[in-house]
Amino acid sequence: MSEGPTNAGKPLARHSSLVTRHCPSSLTLLAERVTHSPEETVNFGRELAKELQPPCLVLLEGELGSGKTTLVKGILASLASVPEEDVTSPSFTLVHEFGAQGTVYHVDLYRVEGARDLATLGLDDLLGRDATILIEWGEKFGEEVVRPCVRIRFEHLGLDERRITVERLI
Ligand code: ADP
Ligand code: MG
Repeated sequence: MSEGPTNAGKPLARHSSLVTRHCPSSLTLLAERVTHSPEETVNFGRELAKELQPPCLVLLEGELGSGKTTLVKGILASLASVPEEDVTSPSFTLVHEFGAQGTVYHVDLYRVEGARDLATLGLDDLLGRDATILIEWGEKFGEEVVRPCVRIRFEHLGLDERRITVERLI
């Protein structure tokens, strides 16, 4: 595996122009699931898709290999009929677009190293669209989000075991 940035997972966006301070007025637990295989996680992604209709910002949080991209495969299969093999972490391209009018975006902030990097990604533009925006390493937004969104947290419990917690903010 290639070496990633040393600050992976740390919030970067505190002073970025693209985010505004947001204190969630409510936080609702939508689902919590322990999965025991990648297939189970993909299926859970398919189930969750109905909660992620556009416009929707989805922050996927958890360490490398915790299952973020695997869940996205299920979400994209359901929302945009994307074959699983077409879904990979956009670690270098940063943003992948799916659907005729770009109705789903898959973003990976793993290699984003500072607020300036984040600001030059064009997320401002994406966030204004009627789209579902799936952001891996969503924790790099810090506690600040721009609109109602769903946060999905991944915990690596064992070799094939992951706890996936889904919350709606606002
Ligand atoms: P991330 O995007 O968080 O870095 P990936 O989804 O790319 O993680 O990778 C998860 C890895 O863990 C894959 O190799 C997958 O096959 C494996 N895995 C094993 N068990 C599970 C599970 N229950 N859910 C998701 N992935 C799993
Ligand atoms: Mg990934």
